[in-house]
Amino acid sequence: MSEPSASSDGTASSTTIVEAAGAAEVVGLARLEQALRRDLELLDYPRRPWLTPKLGPDGAAVHDVIIVGGGQGGLVTAFALLREKVERVLVVDERPIDRAGPWLNFARMVTLRTPKYLTGPDLGIPNLTIVAWYEAQHGPGSWAQMGLVPKQTWAAYLAWYRRVLGIPVQAETCVTGLGPSDTPGVLVVEARHGGRDVRLFARRVVLATGIDGSGAWEVPAMITDALPRDRWAHTRDDIDFAALAGKRIGVLGAGASAFDNASVALEHGAAAVHLYFRRERLVDTNAYRWAEFVGFLRHMADLPDADKWRFIRQILRVGQLPPADTLRRASAHAAFHMHPGSPWKQVELQGDAIAVTTPSGTDLVDFVIVGTGFVTDLSRRPELAQLWPHVALWRDRYAAPEAERHDDLARHPYLGPGFEFTEKTPGEAPWVGQVHNYTFGGLLSLGFGGASISGMKYSVQRLVAAITRSLFVEDRDAHFASLCGFDEREW
Ligand SMILES: Cc1cc2nc3c(=O)[nH]c(=O)nc-3n(C[C@H](O)[C@H](O)[C@H](O)COP(=O)(O)OP(=O)(O)OC[C@H]3O[C@@H](n4cnc5c(N)ncnc54)[C@H](O)[C@@H]3O)c2cc1C
Repeated sequence: MSEPSASSDGTASSTTIVEAAGAAEVVGLARLEQALRRDLELLDYPRRPWLTPKLGPDGAAVHDVIIVGGGQGGLVTAFALLREKVERVLVVDERPIDRAGPWLNFARMVTLRTPKYLTGPDLGIPNLTIVAWYEAQHGPGSWAQMGLVPKQTWAAYLAWYRRVLGIPVQAETCVTGLGPSDTPGVLVVEARHGGRDVRLFARRVVLATGIDGSGAWEVPAMITDALPRDRWAHTRDDIDFAALAGKRIGVLGAGASAFDNASVALEHGAAAVHLYFRRERLVDTNAYRWAEFVGFLRHMADLPDADKWRFIRQILRVGQLPPADTLRRASAHAAFHMHPGSPWKQVELQGDAIAVTTPSGTDLVDFVIVGTGFVTDLSRRPELAQLWPHVALWRDRYAAPEAERHDDLARHPYLGPGFEFTEKTPGEAPWVGQVHNYTFGGLLSLGFGGASISGMKYSVQRLVAAITRSLFVEDRDAHFASLCGFDEREW
């Protein structure tokens, strides 16, 4: 299973080499998969299924867990649940199979930004690591040759992960709603699939809907109010970069995506790219690298609220930076211009051009790319329309000192220790506790959890332990009855 590649030259000799290399890759991968199956067999304890199927309003057995989002977060959660013998698991994703997340869609970086030594999806099984998968195909030492992981390689690893572990993914299924069903303890998940509205039922739901899963990508009103829709795009949008050839581009923001999009525009022949940001200088330290130690990744969730607030607020204050190779890629172009200390004061159409005014003056551009990231705001998620009015937010539970005020953090959901939503008004909507938020919206409550590779190693364990705990506790009477009825004779 090789990565999606750009193109090949198709001549005979290279085909034989490719075929030979392909054959070696296949053999290598087959051997790895065999070793992995053996690992899973050796580690398969306890083996007994323990969840009794629950019947839903339609009389059919409901899913134990539905996971919304088939990206890395959803796939790893599904595998971790299956290993704990939570067997009726379904992952749904709005995108086609193996195209979940940003990697093959709107991510315009060449490689991942995180160092390649991060683990996470493997759940501690060496033959499930991306290194083992890569070297099985490309030979011993090939991983050491690689710098950062190309985004296509990461996407191909996740596709292999889904296939080799047999994770049930229903693709092209967009969840449109979520709420309690008529059966106590059972949630209904409304979705569009195959052009039809469908209803799915589950005892627990995990939202693994990505970095913007607890909010929305943000475009400042000064842009949406002043410009027609065809004159600007967010870095999250599909952008026709070929159409930007010969154009002057204004990019707002200095995070990695702003630089990546600037580079792609220049690589497609943009006449000039002007990148503007508020700070007087680029951020050059990455708080995420600081955070990659056991204490923080595993136990930030155990801190008192005031400490959680000050740590995460500080991490956000450090800000997003363009990784070194991302900065180099853009700066290699003579037509790339950076404007520090240049917040946009006004944007307006001037004839055919767009006038961008900053404290240092007005520049004319032809198209605007918005790299301002996303905001946390559950009310902006259509699928959470029934849920968000009932869930507690940090502003409902923690009064930050005025000097530490942070409006976006105050909108973060105030999650329980297992990523579950908690009620704004206890007793009003207990069902929200059956929904686990494994998106970036869990950052303040539980640290690096959803929507990050850095925290996956520990966060998925915490999430899955919370789900198995709540299901076991909920079914304790049935378990006690099975204990009382247990009559397997030893001899
Ligand atoms: C451009 C970019 C680059 C990044 N680079 C890195 C990096 O290098 N290293 C790192 O650690 N992190 C990185 N991140 C952060 C993070 O790891 C990624 O966002 C990652 O994709 C998160 O995985 P996930 O499974 O949580 O979400 P995703 O991979 O985003 O998957 C979520 C899926 O849920 C689907 N979905 C959303 N809503 C619905 C719905 N209502 N119904 C059905 N499906 C739905 C989405 O379409 C998507 O396919 C990056 C993020 C972005 C945006």
